[in-house]
Amino acid sequence: NVAPVITIDGPSGAGKGTLCQLLAAKLGWHLLDSGAIYRVLSLAALHHDVDIDSESALVPLAANLDVRFQIDGHQAKVILEGEDVSRTIRTEQVGNAASKIAAFPRVREALLRRQRAFRNGPGLIADGRDMGTVVFPDANVKIFLDASAEERAQRRYKQLQDKGFDAKFECLLAEIQERDDRDRNRLVAPLKAAEDALVVDSTTMSIDDVLAAVLVYAEQQL
Ligand code: C5P
Repeated sequence: NVAPVITIDGPSGAGKGTLCQLLAAKLGWHLLDSGAIYRVLSLAALHHDVDIDSESALVPLAANLDVRFQIDGHQAKVILEGEDVSRTIRTEQVGNAASKIAAFPRVREALLRRQRAFRNGPGLIADGRDMGTVVFPDANVKIFLDASAEERAQRRYKQLQDKGFDAKFECLLAEIQERDDRDRNRLVAPLKAAEDALVVDSTTMSIDDVLAAVLVYAEQQL
């Protein structure tokens, strides 16, 4: 008897993170931020002087990655080797490095079991690129959350500004497009909607609209 899963996949900046946090809070379910795992791995590579272009060097690092997720009030803290890296992993540089190492099949393989271990009762909200296609192919509800690249760059710009990071819109748009290309065109677990996923284009939707639509759909499926 396995716990139910709702997968939310999509490109960066489509609003998956916020949607997943709201869904998890609303349903009282666990949350898997799989992107954070790839981000933490790229940070660990940096800390341990591991070449992020070397798949064979990254695999043991991935297999032994000492990462923990701690719920602190409403925020999920990400702890790498005892150090709170919640802020550090959110930079565009770390995101970009994460998307490079995420293209290595054996790195992805080494992280599979760790991700599946998040599936516990009463249920799991899984946020990523391949949650519905590879990690949880038998998920009860699959959503593919999309938005135009311009809109996503705009949202990311605002998000970074609110967090006190310095950012340039043109740079963010270029980085988003570069990361999209890499995530969509890689050979293993590319970013794409599962055949049985509901595609939601959030370009002109507020987060409340998205949450309402997803909840209605999820209730029908569960
Ligand atoms: O979602 P987030 O921006 O934190 O993810 C960072 C990078 O990690 C993505 O650009 C993607 O390349 C990779 N990733 C992945 N599979 C996932 C989640 C993230 O390949 N399930």
